[in-house]
Amino acid sequence: MISIQVKRYGMYLCVFLVMALLIPACRPSAPVRTEGMPRVEPIEASDLEERIHQFPTVPLAHLPTPLEYMPSLTRVLRGPKVYIKRDDQTGLAFGGNKARKLEFIMADVLEKKSDVVITAGGVQSNWCRSTAAAACRLKVKPILVLFKSPDSPVGTGGNLLLDRLFGADVRIVEIGDGSEIDTDVLFHRISEEEKNHGRNPYIIPIGGSSTGESMTEPLGAISYTKAFLEILKEVDRRKIKVDYILLASGSGGTQAGLVVGAKALGSSIKIVGISLSREKKPMQENISAIANETAGILKLDLTISPEEILVLDEYVFEGYGILTPEIAQAMEKVARTEGILLDPVYTGKAMAGLIDLVSRGFFRKNDGVVFLHSGGTPALFVYQDEILEMIQDN
Ligand SMILES: *Cc1c(COP(=O)(O)O)cnc(C)c1O
Repeated sequence: MISIQVKRYGMYLCVFLVMALLIPACRPSAPVRTEGMPRVEPIEASDLEERIHQFPTVPLAHLPTPLEYMPSLTRVLRGPKVYIKRDDQTGLAFGGNKARKLEFIMADVLEKKSDVVITAGGVQSNWCRSTAAAACRLKVKPILVLFKSPDSPVGTGGNLLLDRLFGADVRIVEIGDGSEIDTDVLFHRISEEEKNHGRNPYIIPIGGSSTGESMTEPLGAISYTKAFLEILKEVDRRKIKVDYILLASGSGGTQAGLVVGAKALGSSIKIVGISLSREKKPMQENISAIANETAGILKLDLTISPEEILVLDEYVFEGYGILTPEIAQAMEKVARTEGILLDPVYTGKAMAGLIDLVSRGFFRKNDGVVFLHSGGTPALFVYQDEILEMIQDN
């Protein structure tokens, strides 16, 4: 035992001497290697804030949203410390991540003096409901193209009810019978009709993430680079140890924005996306493309490769919008431990992923994980029968 100790000290001494000899020879600018992401020269948070500030916004969201510790969930999972970022509390028509995106996007709509917004999504789209609400507030007419598929519960309530309450011009399009729907053609047809009525339409791509149509800059993603700053500020102030931010990833703008924030600031926080429907590879490609565009307009000297994007497709389960027992049980667990409601399409799925990752030892016990609650709760009541079948004691 003692001889081992002596040997080890001897080794430390050798390492120390070698280092002492080498250090003067090292150039101070020698790159520091860290696992995962290739490093770039980080910038200050105030600098990033300043760059984001160049893009106008309209106030639509209640910010900052709370960052809460979930002690009971942490206890029952017996894993890392779990926090929740309450972006379900952004305040615009039941909240959600789209309110942040729309602060930037609607500013562009107003700047271009558009009086109609045209966008699309599923029948229970949170994006469309949020856009309708923002449009009403800003006296812009919302036109929503809603795709209806035979295999997911759609109902007439939830987001669809809210779209109608906002007086949105709703155009339901049936899909899933094998025929291809070209969204661009649809958008342009509606756009032409509006122009013929003397209006100035603005077309926003699905989810407000990718650029295209009237949106020439990734304005939705920028809002989540800003949200990363918001999270970091709070984490620093409260001296919380955060290693991961985990979120549901769909059109990818939310994850792309967070990734840009983390990389620009040289943060060690890893952003983990749980894919809702698509496979890992196309998700990585799409998210890195949006992230690079975002970095570009913020004039950041960095690139993000698809391989750097952490996104998991193990939790797609039966596909987009289809409730499974894993999702229902994740919703049940968070409701019964923390009194917090998740949704059946996005956050319930992401939480099912988090719970499974904890059980598989993905995180270390002393890690801190922020779960991004991206909203979606209006769809909860559309799934009432399935939820009741899948949860316990009812
Ligand atoms: C739209 C949405 C997401 C996905 O955000 P993307 O930026 O499209 O990846 C996640 N959760 C909820 C509740 C949403 O409405």
